[in-house]
Amino acid sequence: MGRAELGQLVDREGLDASSGSRGRLSIAVPAAWARDGADIEITVPPRVSCDRCDGGGCDGCARSGAHRTPADAAARTLRLRLPADLADGVTLRLVRPFGEHAPLDQLLVELRADSAASPGVRRVAPPPADALARSSTAGVRALGAQLSTPVVLAALAAVATILGLLLGR
Ligand SMILES: [Zn+2]
Repeated sequence: MGRAELGQLVDREGLDASSGSRGRLSIAVPAAWARDGADIEITVPPRVSCDRCDGGGCDGCARSGAHRTPADAAARTLRLRLPADLADGVTLRLVRPFGEHAPLDQLLVELRADSAASPGVRRVAPPPADALARSSTAGVRALGAQLSTPVVLAALAAVATILGLLLGR
């Protein structure tokens, strides 16, 4: 794992040893999203497989091999920022991903780059660099529009002055 541990991880051994429920979700995102460090939203399925037994059934999942997530889709929608390098795959560990009162203690989200995003995964914000580029371009355009009117008026004034001089002569 090493550098891949980018999540809200403070005490890895403590979290690994925790007897609480731990689900696992594997999703794909386009590599370009990761390069942009994009924010994504994941609508987690109503059930995720148990990370402790990989679906085989254990004490952590009451032998079901899976954990339920909140029934309401909005309540099981997570937002997170992609790490820039997904080349080797990255696993984020989310602690209490659905809040203190939801049954799931931890959710491991395995991210990998692919040609398309998994169902339920969408990009929610443009990368900051793009937004900055767009806003500064717009700013320059607005400035240009503001500048052009006085410049034209000044040119007209000069012409009028010259005409006035010519006519007055
Ligand atoms: Zn289990």
